[in-house]
Order: sequence, then C-alpha cells, then structure tokens
Amino acid sequence: MKTRKLALACPVCGSAEVFYSCEPKCCFNHVCAQCHTTFQPMTQAAGGVERGIEPPDPLPDCTEPTVACAKCESTRVYVMEDGRLVCAACGAVLELEITEVAAG
Ligand SMILES: [Zn+2]
Ligand SMILES: [Zn+2]
Ligand SMILES: [Zn+2]
Repeated sequence: MKTRKLALACPVCGSAEVFYSCEPKCCFNHVCAQCHTTFQPMTQAAGGVERGIEPPDPLPDCTEPTVACAKCESTRVYVMEDGRLVCAACGAVLELEITEVAAG
C-alpha cells in the first residue's frame, strides 16, 4: 500500500502552510505560517490494521507535519490513497484530531 506525506490544514484559517515547530521528544506543536495559530495534532485508533505500508518517497523532513501513532507512538504516520491515516510502524489505521488550538 503506497502512502503520501501527512498534510495538515490550519484549524483557524485553513492554510496548508503549517510547520512542525518542535520535536517528538517534547511535543507536537505546529504553527501556521499565515495566521500564526499553534495547535497539536494527535491520533486515535480508527480500528483496523493495514499490512505492507510503503512510506512516502521522499520521506518528510523534520519541519513537515508530524503526528504520533495512538498505538505505538511512532511518528511514521502517513496518508493512504483513500485519505485515511496509517502508521507505517505497526499498521494501525488512525483518525486525526487537532488539539491545543491557540490563535496567533
Ligand atoms: Zn492559519
Ligand atoms: Zn515542544
Ligand atoms: Zn503505530
């Protein structure tokens, strides 16, 4: 199963120019380049497991949207062709949630 990189839209202005401003050791704080809103994405298990997940090529770099798997905490979470999120480490199908929204 091929996947593509995670893409997040700003929960306030809808811009796709969203950057991951921290590191997985600390938190998942993202910032919108348009309106400076900050937020943290997280995942919940949606039920189901996919096998044979192929990570996107090239892999996202460290400032691109990143979220941790609800099951195994891996940050190798990508988007399948049908738009659902999946963890490339454990195969869990995931749902995205946006938390900690703070308008900039
Ligand atoms: Zn925004
Ligand atoms: Zn942080
Ligand atoms: Zn996982």
